[in-house]
Amino acid sequence: MVIDLPEPCVVVLIGAAGAGKSTFAARHFAPTEILSSDAYRAMVSGAESDQRATRTAFSILHRQLGKRLLAGRTSVIDATNVTPYARRAVLRAAAASRTPVVAIVFELPPAVVTARNAGRAGRVVPEDIVRHQLAHLERASASGVLEAEGFTAVHRLGTATEVDAVEVRRHG
Ligand code: ATP
Ligand code: MG
Repeated sequence: MVIDLPEPCVVVLIGAAGAGKSTFAARHFAPTEILSSDAYRAMVSGAESDQRATRTAFSILHRQLGKRLLAGRTSVIDATNVTPYARRAVLRAAAASRTPVVAIVFELPPAVVTARNAGRAGRVVPEDIVRHQLAHLERASASGVLEAEGFTAVHRLGTATEVDAVEVRRHG
């Protein structure tokens, strides 16, 4: 699948823990374009998984996004983004500068996601949390939901093969 991106834009990766968002971001974007809630959590608290650092991490992420939008730079939001609440702040910020917002939704089979999460080195997210995220994701995946929230384009990736075959093309 080819994903065409207007330049600049905001790319919102949407998927449960273990779906492969950070791997995808690292593969297709420059490190300086990626705003990662886990990376900011680690900066604040020393650990990517420290949930007490979540508020601070997201306030840094949103501030950085605001600055990049003003500068006309493309940003990739590497967080789960499975709830409407999480997506709203990003959509609002982008709307203020009339920047298009592109969703890339990781709709891999739940078994793949939970296996990847369980099998990774370092940070494993508790399985009940992943299940919760998958339930949220299912709501976001219903037809028209993300479009109605204000996303300019929505790209859905349903299998691991599909994710690995993505080609990102940037225009402008
Ligand atoms: P989180 O929301 O917890 O940050 P994530 O969506 O960023 O999760 P990743 O850290 O990118 O997920 O990937 C989770 C695990 O799955 C890692 O061990 C990674 O190596 C593996 N993985 C990710 N993408 C692929 C892929 N395309 N092919 C094979 N394995 C992958
Ligand atoms: Mg990640």
